[in-house]
Amino acid sequence: MATDCLFCKIIAGEIPSTEVYSDDDVYAFRDINPAAPTHLLVIPKKHLTDVKSATADDEALMGKLLLRANEIAAAQGLADEGFRYIINTGSNGGQTVFHLHLHILGGRQLGWPPG
Ligand code: AMP
Ligand code: ZN
Repeated sequence: MATDCLFCKIIAGEIPSTEVYSDDDVYAFRDINPAAPTHLLVIPKKHLTDVKSATADDEALMGKLLLRANEIAAAQGLADEGFRYIINTGSNGGQTVFHLHLHILGGRQLGWPPG
C-alpha cells in the first residue's frame, strides 16, 4: 500500500466506495463522477502507479485484471450492447489518480475518437 494513494485508501476501506467486485487481487467500484450510465473502475490491490509500471512479475495480475473486467462487464449487463475499457496513462493520457485503474464505460453509445 502507498500511504498517500487515494485508491490504496479505498482498498483499505479508509475512504468509502461503492464496491462492485472484490477478490484477493482485484477490486472494482463505481466511479464517483460517472461519465456514462455504467462507469466502474477496476484496480489491482497491489499499488502500481500506472500501466507502464507493470513488470514481468505482474504478468498474471494484468491478465487477471482484464479477465475480471470481462466478468464484471457481463455481470453489469454490458456484454450484449458493448462497452469500452480505458486506461488513462500519464499527463497526455489524462491520468489524475496514480494507481493503475481500468475504466469500464457502458450503457450509452460512446463517441470516437475521445476528445
Ligand atoms: P483517471 O482520470 O483515469 O486517473 O481517472 C480517475 C477516476 O477516478 C476519475 O474518473 C474520477 O472520477 C475517479 N475518482 C476520483 N476519486 C474517486 C473516489 N473517491 N471514488 C470513486 N472514484 C473516484
Ligand atoms: Zn495505490
